[in-house]
Parts: sequence; structure tokens; C-alpha cells
Amino acid sequence: MVMRKGATDEEIQAVVDRLQKEGFGVHLSRGVEATVIGAIGEDRARLEALGLEAYPGVEKVMKVTKPYKLVSREFHPEDTVVRVGNVQFGGGEVPVIAGPCAVEGREAYLEAALAAKAAGATVLRGGAFKPRSSPYSFQGLGEEGLKILAEARELTGLPVCTEVMDPESVPLVAEYADILQVGARNGQNYPLLKALGRIRKPVLLKRGFGMTIEEWLSAAEYILAGGNDQVILCERGIRTFEASTRFTLDISAVPVAKGLTHLPVVVDPSHAAGKRAWVPALARAAVAAGCDGLEVEVHPRPDESISDAAQALSPEMFKAMMDEVAAIASVLGRRVPLPDADPVRAAAD
Ligand code: PEP
Ligand code: MN
Repeated sequence: MVMRKGATDEEIQAVVDRLQKEGFGVHLSRGVEATVIGAIGEDRARLEALGLEAYPGVEKVMKVTKPYKLVSREFHPEDTVVRVGNVQFGGGEVPVIAGPCAVEGREAYLEAALAAKAAGATVLRGGAFKPRSSPYSFQGLGEEGLKILAEARELTGLPVCTEVMDPESVPLVAEYADILQVGARNGQNYPLLKALGRIRKPVLLKRGFGMTIEEWLSAAEYILAGGNDQVILCERGIRTFEASTRFTLDISAVPVAKGLTHLPVVVDPSHAAGKRAWVPALARAAVAAGCDGLEVEVHPRPDESISDAAQALSPEMFKAMMDEVAAIASVLGRRVPLPDADPVRAAAD
């Protein structure tokens, strides 16, 4: 139910009360432009029989026929802003998450974290639990890696983003991480998505490389349906017939997803490109397309990376890329935040 601009609290409450009395789940989105009351339930005929169009303050009753509801713009017309420390995804800012593919060791990670921060990263990344295509490849340091991430957060003051692969590990990873990442290979791991719906921390949900945009948004719906609305979507390339790049970055996913959902959409150009020379161009394209952030793999000595060496940027390449994406963002009236760059905000914190 879309309420008329200026609908009173009593009018809104009357609709909510009726829906609850009839056994529908109710989701209220109060925006500056419009207040939307979402009714969740299977019995559409019963909903139609309530005659809610005639209730005072109701402008129109719309059906959301998509498989996702809470994630849809119809339910929540205004952009969701996911805040992580001083950083925000979705509010016109374009924060950059950066760091090595994996946490390889304490010294190495702390060095990488400082280098990423010096070049402008506002969130750190690094996998402690790695979903490797081969069981014989480095699988990550596990909890030791999480402790190193926590130490890097202390050292730099930046929040950390790291992957969680199974529902059992969610409480452990949530203890250490500021953003929990769902990898492309787990985009349809429904027990994992349900477990992430039960926590109250931001989740970065990568699009599986075989997932349609509708399947990706439906995966996000699992997390929101559990009560966690802090979801950041991440396009990271899909599998096509093209073999020159590791995956094909679906730039169209940025405007398409942003039209369909209120959730912020970030782009990972690293896993799409697979080769460092192409990463900056994809990052520039993503920012030009209107993404709400980037996730980029950066390593102090890229060729020595234990995983994903070919796509890791050196800190120098990353810094050059940051300057370019900041310039593109500013043309669009957006801003790439820098660590401790905003004295007004720093003073307010
Ligand atoms: C990663 O971010 O290191 C990663 C494994 O990415 P993806 O799940 O997109 O392959
Ligand atoms: Mn990687």
C-alpha cells in the first residue's frame, strides 16, 4: 500500500493494524517522499477482499509479483544506506574496500593493510576462510586470520570485511568482522543466507557467477526476511563464453539492480578481470555506471600473493586507480571517501 503524501500516523496505523489482524506480515517503510506499507503473505485474494484502497490515506495498492519483496524498490522506495564505522554504502559515497585476497600471515597482512589505507582504502579486506576451486590450494588461516584482521583494524582504524563460508562459522566470523562477505560460490547457500539473516551486521553478498540478477536479489531476500536489512550487493563478474577475462563483468547489473532494489550495489573488478592490467578500467567503468563502492585486491608484492596473484594490484597501481575513480565520482556528484579525510565528520565522531 502506497500511502498519500501527508498521510497521518493514525491512517498508517489503521492499515497496519488491519493487516496484522488478518495475519499478514507487515513491513513499514517511512520515506520523505512516500510511506509504503508492505503486506507479506500468500493469500492475495484475501488481501484484495480487504478493500484497502478505500482506507483514508491510501493512495494505491500495488502487487509485488517478484520473488523478492523486502529487497524491492516497491517496498522501500528510498536507497538503503549501510553504515560501517565512518563509511557509508548507498548514500552517494563510493567507499573502496581493499586488501589482499587472503590473510597470509600477521606481518604480511599488517603491511598490506597500512599500504591499502595509505592509498585511500576505507575498508580492509582479506579472506581467513577461502573458498578455493581446488582442495589442494591454500584454504586460509581460519580463526588465526580473523585475529590478524582484528589487529589490522586496531592498527588502521578501518573496518574489516571477510568471507564466511558456512552457517556454523557465522557467529565466530561475526565476532571479528565488520562486514561478512558471502562469496560467489555461496550465493545460493540458503542455510548460510538464513544464518546471516539472524545477525545484525552488514553482509556483502556477491553475485554467483551463474546467477541471474533476480536470483541474486532473491538470495538477498533470505537475509532481509530473517531481519537483517544491512545487505550490500556485489557484482563480481559472471561466466559467459568469453575466456579472455576470468569472468565477464556485468556492468549492466549496476543500473539494473539499482532500479530493482534499494540496497547498495558495489563492484569487484578484480575477480572479473583476473588480470591486474584490466582492473583499473573495470573499476572506472563501475563508478561511471553508478556503483556504491568497489572491492579491490591489493598486495604489497602482488606476484608473491598466495592466491589470486595475477589480479592483485600493487599499492602504486591502486593509488593511481583511486585518483581516477575519485575524479569520475565527482563528475557524478558523488564522493570517494578517504580515511580520516573529512575533518567535519572526524570531529563529529
Ligand atoms: C574473494 O573475494 O576473494 C573471492 C573469493 O571472491 P568471489 O567469491 O567473488 O570469487
Ligand atoms: Mn580473491
